[in-house]
Amino acid sequence: MITKLIRTLMGRPPAKSKAKKGSSATQYKAKRLGVDSSNISRAAYSVAQTLQNKGFTGLLVGGAVRDLMLGMRPKDFDVATNATPEEVKRLFRRAFIIGRRFRIVHVMEGSETIEVTTFRAAPQAQGQTQGQTQGQAQMTGRSGRVLDDNDFGSQSEDAGRRDFTVNALYYDPVAEVIYDYFDGVADVKAKMLRMIGDPLTRYREDPVRILRALRFAAKLNFKLDHASETPIRGAANLLKDVPEARLFMEFMKLVMSGQALACLQALHQYGLHRVLWRELAAIVDTPSAFVEAVLYATDQRVQNDQSVSPGFLLAGLCWDAFDQRWQALIAGGELPMPALHQAADEVFAQKLGQFGVQRKIESDMREIWDLQARLQKTTGKMPLRMVEHPRFRAGYDFLLLRAQSGNAPAALAQWWTDFYHGDEDARSNLLQPLKKTSSTNVRRRRKKKASSEISPALSSAE
Ligand code: ATP
Ligand code: MG
Repeated sequence: MITKLIRTLMGRPPAKSKAKKGSSATQYKAKRLGVDSSNISRAAYSVAQTLQNKGFTGLLVGGAVRDLMLGMRPKDFDVATNATPEEVKRLFRRAFIIGRRFRIVHVMEGSETIEVTTFRAAPQAQGQTQGQTQGQAQMTGRSGRVLDDNDFGSQSEDAGRRDFTVNALYYDPVAEVIYDYFDGVADVKAKMLRMIGDPLTRYREDPVRILRALRFAAKLNFKLDHASETPIRGAANLLKDVPEARLFMEFMKLVMSGQALACLQALHQYGLHRVLWRELAAIVDTPSAFVEAVLYATDQRVQNDQSVSPGFLLAGLCWDAFDQRWQALIAGGELPMPALHQAADEVFAQKLGQFGVQRKIESDMREIWDLQARLQKTTGKMPLRMVEHPRFRAGYDFLLLRAQSGNAPAALAQWWTDFYHGDEDARSNLLQPLKKTSSTNVRRRRKKKASSEISPALSSAE
């Protein structure tokens, strides 16, 4: 304050405040900021253009703009507009309003889905979550239109309710202009993650922002600014009030961010892993070599732009718990396959039941575990049938990771590699000698280390 007064008295312009307050936007030519417009999907461009042609605002917003500035090709695009969800829906042939409280529109263009959200006002009172406002105040949109839904607001209000300055940039793909309300452009350049507004208040409003902070810092290799970082230490109690299903979703985003290992380390560093997911505590405290291999492989795939299956990832994270239970049931006299199904049921009930894991993910996980039993059989007709199995590749990749981390016999993984890649002759040769090799191997290993190795379900698993 005093410095500002002195500068003003001395006729100098006031020093640039640490962060802009957000009521007006600085405009930048996108090209000057290094944005390559070929990284923008046709669908995102066309949705924004259609909105503009009809007299509405249509801007790309959020992570996509940030990623464009970083020279990356965004994986999905969000569009912000002053059109109401109903108005948006009317403009596109395949558009669906989804969500009850925060209605957004999914516009399908070709194989892409563009998420279109109407500008929203910031929460009016502390403790309210985003989008919830009090009263029925009418608000005026950027173009002067009156938006009569009390959730809706102007573009600058919309910017203010976003989490980080680098996530509050708007990009007009037609005019190729970026609108910046909170010095997000400077923060992208400085690789700085800074919460808009008072960080503690914003974390209280929505504690999931804490996890988003750690994820973006790791994923983008950004530094969390001091004021945004401080409240995260000791913020574990805030996360306790977040519904488990939402925490789980956020956890999945962390482990699928391409920096899963770094994210888990950060969770550990801030003491948040115990709150996030009870079962995660054990995984992060003493990650098995296998869990590390699964996370590392996931990171590699994301970084190489390959798809990642949540079912595969979760099958990996829960494998140790599942395998221990499976083997305990067999040791207790249960037959291998019924034991496998029972162990899977128990893992779902105890570890995943409360998160509402999608059926598809659950069935993927069960299939991958089931395949671990079936891939132990390297004789007869089974191997040929296995390579035709629609989920073979997932089961085989899973086996490779297990072998790589000492959780399954290396010879078994090698056999499947040879068999999978081999031609007809190679395959029939393999079926012969391996009869001995694999079962001898397996017997030896079984004797040596029954609990942590491949299950005793081996040869009888089919
Ligand atoms: P990603 O690369 O993970 O998609 P993103 O920044 O696009 O990153 P999204 O979850 O897709 O993240 O959200 C889109 C935008 O919505 C964000 O950039 C941010 O502006 C806003 N947003 C999302 N979640 C929150 C939140 N919890 N609080 C405030 N703003 C949020
Ligand atoms: Mg996004």
